[in-house]
Amino acid sequence: MAAAKKALQIRLPPLPSIKDVIRLYKLRALRELSQNFLMEPRLIDKIVRAAGNIENHVVCEVGPGPGGITRSIVHQAPRKLILIEKDRRFVPTLELVADACRNKIDVDIITGDILKTDMTQYIPSDAKVGWTDPPPPLHLIGNLPFSVSTILIIRWLEMISKQQGPWAFGRARMTLTFQKEVAERMAAPILNDQRCRLSVMCQTWCNVKYKFDISGQAFVPKPDVDVGVVTLTPHKTPIIKLPFKLVEKVVRQIFSMRRKYSIRGAQTLFPEDVREDMALRMYNMADIDPVTRPYQITNMEFARICEAYNEIIKKHPELESYDYRAPKNKPSYVAEEKNEDAYNEL
Ligand code: SAM
Repeated sequence: MAAAKKALQIRLPPLPSIKDVIRLYKLRALRELSQNFLMEPRLIDKIVRAAGNIENHVVCEVGPGPGGITRSIVHQAPRKLILIEKDRRFVPTLELVADACRNKIDVDIITGDILKTDMTQYIPSDAKVGWTDPPPPLHLIGNLPFSVSTILIIRWLEMISKQQGPWAFGRARMTLTFQKEVAERMAAPILNDQRCRLSVMCQTWCNVKYKFDISGQAFVPKPDVDVGVVTLTPHKTPIIKLPFKLVEKVVRQIFSMRRKYSIRGAQTLFPEDVREDMALRMYNMADIDPVTRPYQITNMEFARICEAYNEIIKKHPELESYDYRAPKNKPSYVAEEKNEDAYNEL
């Protein structure tokens, strides 16, 4: 029997502990950047292990901060590390790690906002595989800042739907932390108390796995909430094979009245004068019982509703631009901003 392949491990030369680094460089945590640092190496390693085998992979870490997770990633011997950190104060501490693994791992330190950074330019082209191949040797990891985590995952889901950004390289996997409630919503199956539009959006394009919780006590400073670690692997074929914006609109409106019969929310997809007729027609076409509540609708049933809505707007293109939320005389970006915030609501 062939001997099991032993994972390559990179040993770093002795470095000051993360606690010492924070003290030495006077890195007071900034609340406005959602800075809550993980100090406990055992927990940090557990997050990195949740990513699976990353040996020889390209790893992009979001918000490395003082570099606790970064060090753990380095131990697993990736070939390249792309670090995207908004706070410049961490550059010297990240350079310490980069210097320590010089000639072994190629490290790019990018100071910038993850929401504005195009990371594809740093990913080597040979990491690319086909969409239906097994996931590429490319992984996104991050103990995400709470302030951007929901907006970020929604943007990434849209990129996944278009196979753009890091997903132009194939079905790149993600291992990310979220506020525990958000993580639970992402993975929530039907009938679950946490089931909401974020659940349907995430599960439409990805296989979502809730891996484990981390108590807020493990962070410095301690946040008010606990944290959930989630892995996401893009599906070869999404559950709903329609454009992201269309799916987002339908799912958002149906969940807009979560405790009511789902057809009530579905009616708001249509202008008032045709609302009841059109929603009933859509539900009949999709073979969905109108008295079902939103959290009782499976992902496949959402697919049928979206397909029915798509058929209706093909026949009645004037209905497509109808937006129940658009306040009269207000620019549409106001509604868009509210949309990203509202993903955090149940
Ligand atoms: N990875 C470190 C750890 O686990 O201890 C720090 C995690 S801390 C929760 C979030 C990190 O993301 C901070 O270092 C913060 O400066 C950074 N950050 C906040 N907003 C960011 C943004 N928009 N783009 C990139 N990094 C951001």
